[in-house]
Parts: sequence; structure tokens; C-alpha cells
Amino acid sequence: MILFAGLSVTRAQNRDVRYDLLVKGGHVVDPSQNLSAVRDVAIVNGKVARVAEAIQAGEAREVVDARKKIVTPGLIDIHVHVYDGVAPLAIPADPNCIAKGVTTAVDAGSAGAHTFPGFRRHVIQVVDTRVYALLNISVVGQSTLSPDNPWGELLDIRYANPKLAVKTIEANRDVIVGVKIRLTENIAGRHDMQALALAREAADAVKLPLMVHIGGSFSTLPKILELMKPGDVITHTYRAGAGGILDDRMRVLNEVRRAVERGVRLDVGHGAGSFGWKVAEAATKQDLWPGTISSDVHQYNVNGPVFDLATTLAKFLHLGLKLEEVVARATVNPAATFGFGKGIGTLKPGSEGDVAIFALEEGDYEFRDAQGESRIGHRRLIPVATVKGGRLYGSSTIPVVRL
Ligand SMILES: [Zn+2]
Repeated sequence: MILFAGLSVTRAQNRDVRYDLLVKGGHVVDPSQNLSAVRDVAIVNGKVARVAEAIQAGEAREVVDARKKIVTPGLIDIHVHVYDGVAPLAIPADPNCIAKGVTTAVDAGSAGAHTFPGFRRHVIQVVDTRVYALLNISVVGQSTLSPDNPWGELLDIRYANPKLAVKTIEANRDVIVGVKIRLTENIAGRHDMQALALAREAADAVKLPLMVHIGGSFSTLPKILELMKPGDVITHTYRAGAGGILDDRMRVLNEVRRAVERGVRLDVGHGAGSFGWKVAEAATKQDLWPGTISSDVHQYNVNGPVFDLATTLAKFLHLGLKLEEVVARATVNPAATFGFGKGIGTLKPGSEGDVAIFALEEGDYEFRDAQGESRIGHRRLIPVATVKGGRLYGSSTIPVVRL
């Protein structure tokens, strides 16, 4: 037996085994099959083979002792920035995704048509995290904006190029799952509606969803929502300040409710400036919950207040969601948003062998929002280990050496 990331991992000498890996004794939360109970999860040839009440340890080559832990499908974070070295806000994928329970991540617009080939070659094909992308409608992606150069990618509307976006998406359909646009005024100027129309044109041409970053825009949110269609995604839903989802009396805008009713999806995208406790509390008290919980983890929030997706999930436990409900918003729901199909965000037999293992700790924990306001929550999720395609990773991302 060895200790791995605080878990004991046993390796069988017996070569006559049925499974490669067995995650044993954990509390499995898999909303895709309405499961929340102690179960064993067996993986063979990189796929989930069986989820059952008792699978014998001797049947697996490698056994992870997950007793007293929470076991979920590998998480899906649909808003990250991992074009490290090109987008100033980006961070490396593996230490921030797979090491934190996120086996599948969607980079939200770090790359545009001109910078996407590099993203594919130097990130998607190289990292262990399964990375998909939303293509920025601006050809330069998010390469221009930084704290020292506060000028975004659409200040010159000529950089919004639907033809090039469509061409890039058609050539990379296996990894590009939609179009991204950011509408804050220092990014899209006063021509935000014109830029949004161009993003709309690209998304319609390839029949993929459009993710719209809201808040601080020149045009009002109701105007922006007019251009959004069923299946599109609003990110930064609980952002404080102008251009958000609430009116000046903290009531959810009717236009936001109507957009949700016709199929526009709400995503969290916590980020460095886009999750406010007061907004989140007011909106969720009016029953406006997100369909997906994403982190928008990047250079300027990874050391707080975001840290990782698990911390963002814990904030929604504090807001009143059940554990099963937050896990759904980071597994089965995001899988549906981008049509990942049956193999991701679920532990059904035959799915990808992606599993996340967490400690659910109870105590008094300070959770900060993007404005520096704090709440004391009483549960937090600590990523302990991750399995992707049957391979075990710890919080250091160093895989266990196989026998
Ligand atoms: Zn972002």
C-alpha cells in the first residue's frame, strides 16, 4: 500500500484482474443517474466499467480508498483561461484543472482565429486536461488586455471577423464548441451591439452556442439579450455593478427571466470581477439559479478569490444549493450546454473513466467575492485526487507510476 495525496492506493499482485482501477467506498454523487450513495466505481481500458455497492478489491489492479470522501464524475469547468503565455490573464491548465478535479475545461475565448492554431498545438494537444475552446470573435483573442494595458480585443471593430471565425471553427470542430464575446466597454467600446451581431453571425453559421460576457457594457443588458438565442450562454451572471441582471432595487430584470424561459443559459463565471455576494443572494432568493457553475479561473484570481472550481461550488453550497445540485451544475449540465454527449460528466458504464475525489470539510470558512466582501460558509470541497481516462492524478498533477 502507498499513500497518495492522502489516499491509500493499493496495487494487487494478482494479474488476473478484471479492472484497472477501483475507487472504493466513497459517497458517489452522479446527478446524471440520480445517484447519491456509497458506491464503488470500477474502470477498465479508460472507461467506467461498473458502479456498484460492493466490488471486490481483488478484482482491480489498483484500488483507491475513497472512504469518507465525495466521488463525482470528473468536473467540467466551462469558463477558464489556459492559453498560458499568449493571453496575459491565462494560467497553465493542468495545475488548475486536472489537479483540482476538473477533467474537462472550456477555454472561454482566450484564442481568436489568428491565435487559435497555437492554442491547439501548444495547449490542447499537450496538456493532460481535456481542453475545449470557445473561439473569440476577435481575431486576436484575449491577447491585448492586461492590468497594464487596459484595452480589449474589440475596441477596433475590424478585429471582429466572422468569416475567419467560421473558417477556424470548421477546421477545428473537434475542439471548438462555440463562440465567445466580451462586451465590457473597455473591451467592446460603444459599438458592442455591432460586435455582438458579428458574433451572432458566426455562431449561426456554424450552429454552435454563443457565450456572452456581460457587465459594464455600453448597451443595456435587455438590448444584448434580444440578440441571444436558446442554447446561448450568459456568463458573469452574478456580477455586481452596471449592466447586470438586477434593477436598481435589486430585483431580477424581467428580460432576464424571459431569456431564461426561452432557453438562454445562465453561467456563473466567477472571475476577478464577476461574482458579488449581494447580487447572488438577491437573485437566488428570487429563485434565479445558474444552470452551470464555472470558475473563470485566471492569473488575477487564482490566488483568491476564486482559487478553483471546487471553491466556487462551495460558495453555492453556502447560497443554499444541495451538494447534488452543485455537482449537477459542474457535470451533467455543462455537458448538455456544449453537447459533449454521453461520455463526459457522468459515471454511467461506458463513459470516459473520469472521476473526481473530494474531501467535504465542515467548519467556518471565509469565502470572498470579487468585491472583497466575505461570507462565512460551513462546508468546503477540497480536491484530493482526480482520475482521467483511468489514470490517477493527485493535487500535484504527477501521475502515480504504474506497475
Ligand atoms: Zn473569462
